[in-house]
This record gives sequence, C-alpha cells and structure tokens, in this order.
Amino acid sequence: MAAAPNKRGTSLKATIKDQSGAGKLKIGELLSKEGQITNTQFQAAQNQMKKGGGRLSSILLQMGHIDPETIVNVLGRLYGYQVVKYSDIKPSPQLIQAIPFQEIKEYLAFPLGARSDQIVITMTEPTDTTAVEELKEKINGFLKTNKNLKVCVSTENDIIEAYRDFYKISEEEYKEFIHFDDEPEDEEPVTSVDDFGSLVSEAADELEVHEVDDSSTSDEFMASDAPIIKLVNGILTKAIQDGVSDIHIEPFEKSLQVRYRLDGSLFKSMNLPLSIKNAVLSRIKILAELDIAERRVPQDGRIKLRLGKKKTVDFRVSTLPTLWGEGIVMRILDQSALNVDLSKLGFETDTFKAIKRCINRPYGLLLVTGPTGSGKTTTLYSLLNRLNQDDTKILTAEDPIEFNFRGINQVPVKDSVGMTFAAALKAFLRQDPDIIMVGEIRDITTAEIAIKAAMTGHLVFSTLHTNDCPSTIGRLIDIGIPSYMLASAVTMVLSQRLGRRLCPECKQEVTGYDPNELELYGFNKKEIPKLKIMGPKGCAHCNGTGYKGRVGLYELMEVTDEVAKAINANVPEDQLRKLAVQEGMVTLRDAGLEKVRQGVTSLDEVLKKTTITKEALPAYLVNPDIEKYEDKDVIIREGNNDIDFFKLVKGAVYVVKGGKKIAEITEPGEYFGEMAAITGEARTASIVSKGRSEVKRFPGDKLLEVIEKYPDVANHLFGVLANRLDHANKLLLKTAAQKTDKH
Ligand SMILES: [Zn+2]
Repeated sequence: MAAAPNKRGTSLKATIKDQSGAGKLKIGELLSKEGQITNTQFQAAQNQMKKGGGRLSSILLQMGHIDPETIVNVLGRLYGYQVVKYSDIKPSPQLIQAIPFQEIKEYLAFPLGARSDQIVITMTEPTDTTAVEELKEKINGFLKTNKNLKVCVSTENDIIEAYRDFYKISEEEYKEFIHFDDEPEDEEPVTSVDDFGSLVSEAADELEVHEVDDSSTSDEFMASDAPIIKLVNGILTKAIQDGVSDIHIEPFEKSLQVRYRLDGSLFKSMNLPLSIKNAVLSRIKILAELDIAERRVPQDGRIKLRLGKKKTVDFRVSTLPTLWGEGIVMRILDQSALNVDLSKLGFETDTFKAIKRCINRPYGLLLVTGPTGSGKTTTLYSLLNRLNQDDTKILTAEDPIEFNFRGINQVPVKDSVGMTFAAALKAFLRQDPDIIMVGEIRDITTAEIAIKAAMTGHLVFSTLHTNDCPSTIGRLIDIGIPSYMLASAVTMVLSQRLGRRLCPECKQEVTGYDPNELELYGFNKKEIPKLKIMGPKGCAHCNGTGYKGRVGLYELMEVTDEVAKAINANVPEDQLRKLAVQEGMVTLRDAGLEKVRQGVTSLDEVLKKTTITKEALPAYLVNPDIEKYEDKDVIIREGNNDIDFFKLVKGAVYVVKGGKKIAEITEPGEYFGEMAAITGEARTASIVSKGRSEVKRFPGDKLLEVIEKYPDVANHLFGVLANRLDHANKLLLKTAAQKTDKH
C-alpha cells in the first residue's frame, strides 16, 4: 500500500465529525457528476436505501446501474484513491485478530496494515465520511492507538472474498452478502400458473367454437387467439417458475405432449388436445419470428419474454418436422438463473484459490473439460465474467452464443459460411485482445492457434470433450500438439461433472454399506466406521425425486513446474495423474466423495458420475473383467513403456502410428498390445477406441500367471511368436536368396 492519496483524494476525507448522513450519498453525487448514473437512477437508489437500508453503492450495483468496477475506476482515476485489488489484500494476522469482523462488515471495510503513523484500510465506499470517522474511532479503540486512517478503495466482491479468506467467515455469513447481492425487489412477480387444466380447456373450447364457425380459419388467426396466447405464455412462465432447462413440445398421433427437463431429467407436464396443436405451434413460431408456413424443414429462432420491469428471459427455439407434425424444443436462457459468479459455483476452498491463481496470470491456455451437460459453459462464462473489466478486451467465438455479456465481444461460429473456430481465432489475434475464449478445441488448426495465442501473451480459454485432466493433455498430444508446447502454454485444466444435489428437506442417512465396498469406492479405511452417508427419499419439495438442483464436482490440475516437467517428458497418463495429485489435484472421484461426506449428494450419484482412477488400485482389480472406452479414448499410447495387453470384447479400435490411422481392429476376440508384454519394448503404435468399445485387460507384468490361467491367451501369444519367427525366417531366406543372385 505505497502511495498516499493525492490532494483531491484528501479533500474528501472527514475533518470534522459529520452527523448529517450526507456521507452516505456522496458516492451517488460523484457518480452522477461523472455521468456514470442519471439523476433518476440516483433518486431510485436513494428511495431504495430509505426503504430497505444498505449502502448506496451496493444498491446501485444491484439495480444494474453501475458495474462492479465502476466505483473503483472513478475513485481511482478521478479522485486519487488508491485501488486495492483482491490479489493485493495481504493483511497482517495481528490486525485481523484485533479487529472483529462483526464490527467492520457493515461498512464493507477491510483492514490492510498498521504503520507508525497510520492505519491503512480499504472499503467499497471510502467517500462516506461518516463511516470513515466511525471506523477510525472503532479501529483505534481496538488497537489502543490514536492514528490516522488511510482509506483505499476495493470492489465489493474483492472485500467479501477477503472476508472469506482472512476472517474465515462461515458459509452463512458469506451467503448473507451474496443474498444481499441479488435481492432486487421484483415488484411484478412472474405471472403465476396454478391451474393449467383450465388454461388448456379454455383454449380448446374457444377453438372448437371457431372451427364450427369458420372451417377455413387460418393458423395465424388461431395462433393470435387470446386463449392460445395465454396458454403458450403459461407454458413458458411455468418453465421459468419451476426452473426447468428445456421445454419439449412433441406431436404424437393422438395428442400434443409437453415435457420439461429439470435437473437433467425429462418429465411429462401435460397432453394438449390435437384441436389446438397447430395454433400452439404457430403461436410459438410467431414469437420466435419463424416462418409459420414452413413446416417441412427445421428452423431456429429466439423468443425474448419480458417478465416484470427488469427481467427478461430468452428461449432458444428449434423446430423439427416429425411423423406427426412439427416438434419444438425450447432451451431456456435465463440470464438471472445463470450462475456466473465464480464464487458461487461450489468449488472447495483450495480449488477456488488455485483457479484464482491461474486466471490472474497474464497469459496461458486454460481448459475446461467434461462431457456434454457437465456445466463447462457456465464455468467458462463465470471465469470470463470475473475478468470482464473496462481495461480488458475480451473476444469469444461460440457455437451457439447462449448468453450476452456487456463489454464482451461475442462472435457466433458458423461453419456453413466458413466462420469456423479456427477462422474466428485467427481474426481475433489481429484485434488486439487480452483474453480470448474459443468455444471448443476440435482440431489441430484450432489447437495450434490457441496455443500460439497463449504463448504470445494472451489468456485463452477453451473446452475439450475429455474425461479428466491428465487425459486432456493426452488428447492434445493425439491431436498433434508437441508436448513441450503444452508444457509451456497450458496453465490449468479443470475437469468437471454435474451431479444431482440431495433435497435438503428429505435427505436421510443410508446405512448398511459394506465397509470393503466403501474402501473400494475410494474412502479411507480409517474414516469408514464414522462415515455418515446420506441418500434420497422424496417429498413434495423435490417432486418425489429426493434430489433438488445440482452440484459441481471439480478436478483442477494446475500446471505447476513439476507438472509441466512431466508433460514435457510425455509421461503416461497414469504417471501424470499421480504427479498432479501430489501437486494438489483432487481427482473427480475424490471431489465427489467429499460431497458425499458433506451430505450434499448421494454415493450412488458420485459412483455414476465419476470413476476411480488407477492409482488407488491396480487396473486389473478396479476392473477385473472388462474396461469400457468412449470414442477416441486412447487405450495404448505410442512410445509408452507400459506392457499390459488387451482383447477386444465389443466395438472396434483404431491402430494409429505417427498420428496416422494404419489399421482397424473390429473382430471381437482379437488381441492387441501383446508384443510389448512379450518383448518389453516401447509401444510402436497407439490404440484408440472407435466409438464405444469394451476390452479385457491382461496385466503384462503377470504374463506367466496369465498364460497359466488363460489357455486361449497362451495359445494366441505363442501363435504371435511363431508368426514373428516365421516372418523373420522368410526375410532371412529372401535376403540370402538376393545375395546369391547378385554373385
Ligand atoms: Zn425432498
């Protein structure tokens, strides 16, 4: 905390005790004077403050009139306040101990340090002279000193996080701030839909009358009928009320079915009579600005639904012609429901700290991985949202763009017109960005440009469809990126899953687990006797499912010096995982088990979403019989020195050598990888799953036992040896014959 505030800054400091309460409004006056807010906005915020209390800056922020960075920027740039960022908050422990959290939280102030002549603090509204005066008295009281107060400025978020880090405040205390954060009073609640039955019959009745009256009624006319409008609005608002993610409207022979997707599972909501099918579908298509006359080809559109004054919800609409008519699926893009606050995603404290470290580096490639539906987009958006500041240029290439961010340049990718991820990325580099997000790395071209961008001073975010962190590195090597480049460009890999969260109203303890089994799942032998595992029951609160909402499971591999060395040395995936764990990585399974210990989710859910990694148990114990691989999973990696071999059980695999596919193994019962077991030499080719495959693994270091136990394997191995010998023999004969010819 070096430089003292300049003269303009000091002029705002309190010299006499201010009892008028004007200090509380000072920040509003400044922002208004600088043109950051209008008079009306200022007035509205003041009214809100009178009604519900709170700080003016927080209210302005909540109302969306200013950005989180506005105050810091204005006070820092124009009024000479020293800006203290989260990463700069390193208070002395004595100070934290001496000044209780309860005494400073209402000021959103944080003590930074004490010197011989002054005490340095930071707060969100240093312009509030009354607050500064009160704080000065309080802090001096606690420290038994009589020093001046030097006041710096920080964002609300930074201060709250500093509270969490240094005052170790409880989740409840933390949530109080968060709650405070999103408490805008919605004067007009969402139209409530209590009685769908009456909406539907109202719509159907009205239409029947129309059909009797006028048999040539056009769809458009019917679609604009009040009951249809009401019904469609009802379908949309109910979806928002219930917090579903998608609405499926599907025509069948005898009815039009409406289903909702909630927490990842579909459930049926209602059947609509066929008499209103066309009218309902047309109404939705009109809202989405689609061609209502066109029913034979798929169409895409968007609906913007306004709810109350401030809230709008976007729906992405797509139609599909099916046997019984057009089906429509609507994805809800509810901006307010999107959790783009990184601190609210449910990271464990250490993981969260590591993430903050990684995104605060000036450059590097940061990857988020996981299967479809694992919440990668939300995580990426949260990372970007956190970095979205006035002094940072952010460009994104997305397919599709799901949410619009103020201040971020978002570019839609359209393969059909040549606007690919790679093309967008190339163009980005000429736009002088600080941060780039590319929706997905699918090919070598995109991967190469992303790596290059990361190595030339940009922060680059992207996603990959890989199962965990170590395999992500393997995938990039498979795509064709040299390992030394990965070692220097990648700063972190975050792999994630979404599991269902147990309903807090009805979750109950599950007993009767076999301790041996629990150990096999990854629990520690010592903790098992004391373990309390919760499971689902089902109540009205959770629609009888026993689950409500989701919980993220995260595996974060920070590319530390050691991890970088290992990547550079191209070590096998298992070794990389082992090392990453030593360097602090918590595997997905362990992250899941932690959520089980906390009673947040059930053991079943974790077992379903994560697999135990091979370090914990030898491979042939984890999966004594069959191993399953997804498309493009690498079973054997070229150049590695492992010696297990495999028998194909189901599906097919590719043989890849030097990045080129040289063969395919498609016959169940075929063996592969056995030469390494026989000769102990490095792998001469990679084996990659083609689609899903199932293979049986044989431990190469237990060759004798395997031969003893499995006669058919022994047969095969000797067959391979005999063939090799025969082949070598023929080669020798051929060479000998050629030599004789020449002489
Ligand atoms: Zn429940």
